[in-house]
Amino acid sequence: MPSYCEVALPVPLDHTFTYGIRLGQSPKRGARVIVPFRNEKLIGVVTALVAGAPEGFEVRYLEAVLDEEPLLSEHLLELGAWAAQYYLAPLGEVLRAMLPLTAEVRRTVYYRITDLGRDVLATAMEGNETTAARSSDRRKGRLSREEQNIERRVLERLASGDPVKVSALRTATAASLPLLAALVRKKWIARETAAAERDARRMERFAVLVPDTRLPSLTEKQQAILAELAASGGELPLAELRRRDLPASTLQTLVRRGLVRIEERPEQFRLGGLTPTTESFALNTAQGDALATLTGALGAFHAFLLYGITGSGKTAVYLAAMQKALDRGLSSILLVPEIGLTPQTAGLLDAAFGQKVALLHSALTPEERSEQWRRIRRGDAPIVVGTRSAIFAAAPNLGLIVVDEEHDQSYKQEETPRYNARDVAVMRAKLAGAVVVMGSATPSLESWHNAERGKYARIELRDRVMNRPLPEVELIDMRREFQQTGKDELFSRSLIEQTKAALERGEQALILLNRRGYSFAVMCRACGEKLDCQNCAIALTHHKAALDDVGEARVGQRLECHYCGYKRTVPARCPKCESEHLYYLGAGSQQGEERLNEIFPGARIGRMDRDTVRGRGDLERLLARLHSGEINLLVGTQMIAKGHDIHSVTLVGVVGCDHALSMPDFRAAERVFQLMTQVSGRAGRGDLRGRVVVQTYYPDHYAILAATAHDYTAFAERELKYRRWMHYPPFGALANVLVQSEKMEEAAGWAAILGKSLVQEQERGAPVRLLGPCTAPIARIKNVYRFHMILKSNSRKALNEALRGMLKRADEAGIPRRNLIVDVDALRLM
Ligand code: ADP
Ligand code: ZN
Ligand code: ZN
Repeated sequence: MPSYCEVALPVPLDHTFTYGIRLGQSPKRGARVIVPFRNEKLIGVVTALVAGAPEGFEVRYLEAVLDEEPLLSEHLLELGAWAAQYYLAPLGEVLRAMLPLTAEVRRTVYYRITDLGRDVLATAMEGNETTAARSSDRRKGRLSREEQNIERRVLERLASGDPVKVSALRTATAASLPLLAALVRKKWIARETAAAERDARRMERFAVLVPDTRLPSLTEKQQAILAELAASGGELPLAELRRRDLPASTLQTLVRRGLVRIEERPEQFRLGGLTPTTESFALNTAQGDALATLTGALGAFHAFLLYGITGSGKTAVYLAAMQKALDRGLSSILLVPEIGLTPQTAGLLDAAFGQKVALLHSALTPEERSEQWRRIRRGDAPIVVGTRSAIFAAAPNLGLIVVDEEHDQSYKQEETPRYNARDVAVMRAKLAGAVVVMGSATPSLESWHNAERGKYARIELRDRVMNRPLPEVELIDMRREFQQTGKDELFSRSLIEQTKAALERGEQALILLNRRGYSFAVMCRACGEKLDCQNCAIALTHHKAALDDVGEARVGQRLECHYCGYKRTVPARCPKCESEHLYYLGAGSQQGEERLNEIFPGARIGRMDRDTVRGRGDLERLLARLHSGEINLLVGTQMIAKGHDIHSVTLVGVVGCDHALSMPDFRAAERVFQLMTQVSGRAGRGDLRGRVVVQTYYPDHYAILAATAHDYTAFAERELKYRRWMHYPPFGALANVLVQSEKMEEAAGWAAILGKSLVQEQERGAPVRLLGPCTAPIARIKNVYRFHMILKSNSRKALNEALRGMLKRADEAGIPRRNLIVDVDALRLM
C-alpha cells in the first residue's frame, strides 16, 4: 500500500515533489490533486505512487484528489515526460499546458495574522498607536494616518486567528491590495491561497410552460410569450426569448402566476460563426491517390509530408482521411495555425462531422475550453480541431493527426514549455501508433529534409484543382522604378495600373504590406536620433490618427512600441536636439490603406492587421465582407496570406516583404519565401486566372526568384546548402539561451559564467558549437536586459546534455531559473 506519491507542480523547478497520502485518499498516476506548496495551494498531477518518503522528509499531505480515474492517459503522461526532457521544461509546467482545465478550479485568497502581527496589534492596543508603523514606516514618511488606521483595522479583523477571505477583509477594512501586500512584506500578516473544485459546465436557463387547465385572463404580452413557448414544444432558452424581444418583466409575472417555470441545464455544444457550405465535388486523381496512401497507413505509426501547392485541394484530402479514420472507430486531431480556423473551415467541418467536432482555440473562455476537453475525453467528439495546444487533446483511440500549414510559426509556443506542436505531433503519433500528416505548399526545411532522408514519406499534389494555373508573377525592381520616375512612391506604376484594371473588371485585389502602423520609425534629420521605446531597445512605430466612425474627428495620433505596448504622443521637436525636422521612415499597412484611398477613391477598401483584427469576431467580419464582395481591395499584414480561399481574388500585390531579408536571422530567406508563395497563392483560385506583382529591392535574391517561379524545390536545394555549410537546422539541432535581468551587469555576468561553463564542456570534448554570449539582437525589452548565446550540435543528445550541464551550473552559481530561457529548436533568435 503506497503511502506517498510524487506530484508534478507548475513551478519553475526541474523535479517532482513528494506528498503523503491520507487515509481514504486513493490517488492514481495521471490524476490531479491539490497540494500545499509554500504558503499556497497548487494543483498538480500525480506521476508516481511510492512506498516510502526520502529520509528526513517532513511530510505534507495531499489536500484533495480531484480525479478518481486518471485524467491523463499513459500515452499523454509519456508524451509529457518526453516534452519535459526534450525542451528542458519542468514536467509540472508541461502537464499544466496539457490540461486546460483552469475553469474547474476556484482559487481563493485568504489572509491570516502572524505572531509579529499580534505583537504589533497588542502594542497598539496599549495606546501607542501602531508603534511599528512609527518605527519603520514613519521614518520613511510613507504612511498617512489614514493608511495606518486601515492597517490597524486589518490586524483587528484578523485578531481571532481565523483566515479571512480577501473579499471579506477588504469590505470590512477598506484596505487596498497594495496595502495588504505591504503588510505581508512586513510579515504582520500572511497570504494563503486555497484551491477548490467547481462545476465548470456552462448553464443555460429555459422558460418551460407549466401544463394548466385554467384559462386565466392574460395581457397581450403574456399571451405572446405563452404562444411562443407552445409553438416551440413548450420551452425556450431565456436568451432566445430576449432575442425575440419578449420582455423579461412579463416573463417574471408569468413565473409568479405559476404558468411558466425557469429551469437551469448544462448548455449544449454548438459550433459558432459558421459559413454554411454547399460544396460537393469528387476528389481528383492526385487527391484520391493521396487519400489512399493515408488510409492504407491507418492503424500504425507513419509520418507523411503532404507537399501540395497552393489551391491543390489539401483540405479536402484531410477531411476525407479523417472520415476514413472515423469509419474505423479512430479519432483524429486537425491542427490549424492561430488564425487558420476561419468560419469557412468551421463550416466545412460542421457539414462533414456535425456534433462529432470539438473545437479548441485560443479565444475560448476557460469554461468553454474545459467543456470541449471533457467532450473529447469522453469520446463524444472524435474529430478534434484546434490550434497548437490541441495536440495534447485527450482523444481516445487516436488514429490520425493532421498538421495543416505545418510551416506556420504559431505552432511554436513562445513561453514555457516552449514546444513546437508540429514536432510534438510526430512524437504523439509514435506513442499512439497513429498516422501523422504534415501539409504545406511551403514545408519547413526541417520537414522537407526529413522527407529527403526518408524519415517522412512524401505525398505530392503538384497541380491546382480543376487544372487551374498558378498565377503569373511580375517582379518590379524598385531601384529601377525610382531611377525612372524620380519619385519614392510606395506603389509602383505597374501595381497601380493592374489594381485599377482588376477593380474595373469587378474582381478583387489583395495587397501585402507586412508591417502594421503608419511608419515604422521616426528619426531626426538634424542629429540622427531615432525615437526608441523608453522600455525597449526598439524603434517606436508611428500610428496615425484613426478616423472615427463618422470619418471625422481624429483620435489617437501616437507612437507605439510593438513589444511592450508603451505609447506616447508624437513630439513636435526632437527630444535630443530640439530640431523640428523629424521624419518618418518605412510604410506600414495603415499608410498603405491611406495611399490606396487616395489612388482609388471609388474602391471599397479594407485593412487586415493586428490593429483592425483584435478579437475573433473582427477577422470573421472582415472575411465575410471580402467573400460577399463588400470589400474589393484588401490591404494587410501577413494575416492576409493565411489559407483564405476567395475565388474572385485575381490580383495580389507584394510590397515591402523583402525588408525581412536583412534581419539577423538564419531563417530570414525561408520566411520571405514562404510569405511570398503563400500570399501569391491567394490569387486565381476561382475560374479567373490570377496575377501577382512583387515589388522588391533584391530582385536577384534566390528566395525572391524561386518564389516568382513557384519553385519550392529550387529554393529548398539552395537554402539547404547554406544551412549545411553553416551548421544550422535542419542539419543538427540548435538552442537559444537567453539570460535576462533588470540589471545589465547582472545579466552580462551571468551570461559570461554560463558561456564559460559551455566552453569548458567543449574542451572536455562535448560536440557542441557555441555562438556568443553577446547582447541579444533586441538588447532590452520591458526594461529587462537580454544576453544570449546560441548552441548548435550535430547530436541532439549532446545538445541536450550540454544544456542540462549549463542549468546545473546556473543553479550552483545562484542564477535564478526564471532569469534563464532555454529555447530548444528556437524559431525566434531576436
Ligand atoms: P489548399 O489548402 O491546397 O490551398 P484548398 O483545400 O483550400 O487548397 O482547396 C482550394 C479550393 O479547391 C477550395 O475552394 C476547394 O473547395 C476546391 N476543391 C478542392 N478539391 C476539389 C476538387 N476535387 N474539385 C473541385 N474543387 C475542389
Ligand atoms: Zn535631433
Ligand atoms: Zn517597448
